[in-house]
Amino acid sequence: MSQPVLEAENLAKRFGGVRAVDDVSLALAAGEVLAMIGPNGAGKSTCFNLLNGQVRADGGHVRLHGREITGLPPRKVWRLGVGRTFQVAAVFASMTVLETVQVALLSRDRRLWRLWRRANRHMPGRARELLRQVGMDWAAERTCGTLAYGDVKRVELAIALANDPTVLLMDEPTAGMAAEERGQLMALTQQIARTRKMAVLFTEHDMDVVFGHADRVLVLHQGRVLAHGTPTEVRGEPEVQRVYLGE
Ligand code: ADP
Ligand code: MG
Repeated sequence: MSQPVLEAENLAKRFGGVRAVDDVSLALAAGEVLAMIGPNGAGKSTCFNLLNGQVRADGGHVRLHGREITGLPPRKVWRLGVGRTFQVAAVFASMTVLETVQVALLSRDRRLWRLWRRANRHMPGRARELLRQVGMDWAAERTCGTLAYGDVKRVELAIALANDPTVLLMDEPTAGMAAEERGQLMALTQQIARTRKMAVLFTEHDMDVVFGHADRVLVLHQGRVLAHGTPTEVRGEPEVQRVYLGE
């Protein structure tokens, strides 16, 4: 692999007696899509949280373009270009009650209102371009609440892309979607990863989606890396078949 965009080395995290993540190393190249799979409780979400600084590691390193970002707060990591998809509902749920009322007050402040109008001159064009990239330009004037679930997921992807990430972390992006839509969302993600040269790490339970849209697959089991390779390599590992694929 050429210089990886994102690299994790010997990451470890315990919760009490549980080794949630135990000596995990991985690397992501530009434009590459890596799927992390493993049963519930395998440590996938904790890995994501360690990668973007949401959770502090007990040991190990995270590097972005070769630069150490271990221990940086999530906001800094996000600024450096490590994006994460969040559910649209969660975005609004993350505002405090005070912030919610402040948003209402914003509309009364003349100076802020002028700033907002100025921003509105160039932002709609950029927003429309992002919506076009995720195939949602047709819905620009709709309210999010009226969209089908699969379409909301595309809007979430556009929101994540707005920060122009070089790495995008997607924890269960297709949860709750119909089988057909899952494949479509990950096909779109893979295509965007290629064109933007953005690295993607995602978790997914649907093995058809994993083996259809990931360049490489990492299997996590009880916090440890059980296998790591191309879909074909990983599928061929007897240990993976025994523990995970049940073949
Ligand atoms: P996955 O995403 O693969 O389902 P998680 O990373 O969510 O797995 O969880 C891995 C293990 O760590 C589980 O045993 C889980 O109960 C535990 N765990 C995760 N987060 C916490 C937490 N904040 N406090 C205590 N235990 C946790
Ligand atoms: Mg999880």
